[in-house]
Amino acid sequence: MIYPWQELIWKRLEAQSERLHHALLIHGPVGIGKLALAEQFAQLLLCESIQGTTKPCGACDGCRWYLAGTHPDFRRLEPESLARRAAVDEEGETPAPGTSRAAKPSQEIKVDQVRGLDNFLSLRSHRGRRRIVLVHPAEAMNLNAANALLKALEEPQPGAHFILVSHRPARLLPTIRSRCAAVPMAVPDREQALAWLSEQGVGDAGAWLAFSGGAPLQSRTLASEPAGAVAGMRRALAGMDFDALRAAGNREELEALAEVLQKRAIDTAMRSLAGAQRYGLGGTSRRAADWLRYAREMGRFRALARAPLNPGLMAGEMLSKMPKD
Ligand SMILES: [Zn+2]
Repeated sequence: MIYPWQELIWKRLEAQSERLHHALLIHGPVGIGKLALAEQFAQLLLCESIQGTTKPCGACDGCRWYLAGTHPDFRRLEPESLARRAAVDEEGETPAPGTSRAAKPSQEIKVDQVRGLDNFLSLRSHRGRRRIVLVHPAEAMNLNAANALLKALEEPQPGAHFILVSHRPARLLPTIRSRCAAVPMAVPDREQALAWLSEQGVGDAGAWLAFSGGAPLQSRTLASEPAGAVAGMRRALAGMDFDALRAAGNREELEALAEVLQKRAIDTAMRSLAGAQRYGLGGTSRRAADWLRYAREMGRFRALARAPLNPGLMAGEMLSKMPKD
């Protein structure tokens, strides 16, 4: 599906579909629908409708196979953790404790996944049309995987197209970036995002949209998870409930804590320096420089919180560094 704010970018993509670059890199912030756009475009490229439609028809063999996840000319590279989450979402599947499934699913796209494309890329299309590889999120490729993909990009096979989706294009190998035609996507304008969120029945939409830096899908997700770590930390921060903030003890809560503290720090510095804020979390302070330093520090903690060395101490450490006024 295409979100209302993607009509223009869709037109541009669709206009290129006949003479397509062999690799596209769709990039932009989290939560604005990049993956949905990439998926819709992949379906259009595989659609076999003979009418010159500008959207996939949804009814031909190509579309039906694509939608069923069984199209022989389509491959999807993503970390095991994402693929498994999709399976859980769809089928309510839960891993049985004590089985090998309890092993932590990988957050990376591995080299074997890329090597697994070799046959797919060298053989002819099953349907006499294109073969499409969707890579999401592209920055999840580890170095070996990225080098293997680079090779494939350097020796493009006729009819094979790559669509890379990335939240963090700066983390990709520059040589991969330079092989791709960039398709940058920005957050939609605020009015459009708010209209869509209100259609979706999202309460407190303005506050969530600000908190998400303008990303509507992320706003909807956060608003729909009042018991989630981010909502909990945001509430605790708003109420200056330091006991609740300090209680952050697992990876998810620590990441959420670092995020809300970083956003508060950025906002406080911005409000103090420029009278405006971004995420709706700021106070004012005469010590804007201290808050800027703290914001950078919390940025580092956000990365550390993904694999906390000592989760029990981390929340306290983050809070103790906060400027006092
Ligand atoms: Zn179709």
